[in-house]
Amino acid sequence: MDFTSLNISTLANYLRTVPSVTALLGDMDALDIVEVGDGNLNYVYFVSSQANPRASLVVKQALPYMRLVGEGWPLTRHRSDREAHALRQFGALCPQHVPQVLHFDSAQSLIIMQRLSHHQNLRKGLIQGLRYPFLAQHLSGYLARTLFHGSDLYLGADAKKQAVAQTINGELCKITEDLVFTCPFEDHASNVYSPALPRTEIERLHNNPALRVAAAQMKWAFMNQTETLLHGDLHTGSVMVNQTDTYVIDPEFACYGPLGFDPGLLLANLFTAYLSQDWHRLQAGEDPAPYQDWLLAQAGDLWRGFSESFLRLWQEHEDQAGAGFMGCARDASSQTLFRQQFVRRIFSDALGFAGCELIRRTLGLAKVAEVASIPDPQARAAIELRTLSLGEALLLQRHHIINIDQALDLARQTRRSLP
Ligand code: ADP
Ligand code: MG
Repeated sequence: MDFTSLNISTLANYLRTVPSVTALLGDMDALDIVEVGDGNLNYVYFVSSQANPRASLVVKQALPYMRLVGEGWPLTRHRSDREAHALRQFGALCPQHVPQVLHFDSAQSLIIMQRLSHHQNLRKGLIQGLRYPFLAQHLSGYLARTLFHGSDLYLGADAKKQAVAQTINGELCKITEDLVFTCPFEDHASNVYSPALPRTEIERLHNNPALRVAAAQMKWAFMNQTETLLHGDLHTGSVMVNQTDTYVIDPEFACYGPLGFDPGLLLANLFTAYLSQDWHRLQAGEDPAPYQDWLLAQAGDLWRGFSESFLRLWQEHEDQAGAGFMGCARDASSQTLFRQQFVRRIFSDALGFAGCELIRRTLGLAKVAEVASIPDPQARAAIELRTLSLGEALLLQRHHIINIDQALDLARQTRRSLP
């Protein structure tokens, strides 16, 4: 069948032909199909059978354009090949944190996957002030396992090079290169400035040569440090949670890139959640401080958990293989030093990527709900001055911040230091 853009009625006929779907849903005579409607790029449907409403699945189809903009923004539908591949690879490594792919049809750019029925989008949960006891533990484990196993530390040199070649995702990488690393740092037409954000502050950032250089360095790293298979868009809206589970969805931006990229994006989104609580918790009539402490504790635990697990996986792998990346180290100290410096370098990269993410979510095209939903323009701008200031500091100081506690202190100081 040639590629067809499916709708609710044509999708029902399609699903009746897929054995794994009929096996899961049972009676296929009367299906309930709803379009979720909150995806930016794709069409996502929830499907269940009226005869057996408890069984349910998700269908995601990529059309040859961006859903939010329409046909005016063409975009390869083959992004769903990248998403299906990444869901399968990450799912094999972390089945408890990735929805299971039940069926993939490359010709239709269509993925059918496990529905996370009792889970909420993490960004929405954080806006509501909810806590998730396993969040940092689960996400740090996910990051360590996925990022380690895609790298040369685990794969054979040849397999790694093949993997880089087979996972090229040029059009989606270009979106990141433009919208994360380039346009927000100049007065670009695609930028969207919130109404009360002072133009002088925007211009100050755009005219700061050191900041422009730092952003360009991060862009270069993103384009050239093909260290591991990234999720590529790991913000808090790509995480679904409840009190016991954590799932990472939507890896259509997956590509080979720097080890610090995914952790950096998550850190930036936790920092944005932290800074925006001065609005959201006050609106709920609460003291923001306890929840803000919890959010920063998550960021700390996320980084520490990731770096410890990554080093443990590395050690275990080399013990098992009986060979090390740096060859036969006669003295343990050279190996220890290499690993320490390696993780230190991932950390400064992560801080740089976090800085870019904070700035691009404030000045660039794509916003985050915890800030963009603040109806009072002055209150929104007050938070945005902080996200910009923290982003700038992380980018400029990324080589001098020596541990996560210093980064968390910087977030606290940024919150306090502005009006
Ligand atoms: P897009 O790539 O268009 O951004 P997403 O993959 O983020 O689409 O999905 C859009 C929304 O659909 C998510 O925010 C979530 O609410 C819902 N969704 C996506 N996948 C699942 C899933 N496996 N289970 C439950 N809900 C899902
Ligand atoms: Mg997406």
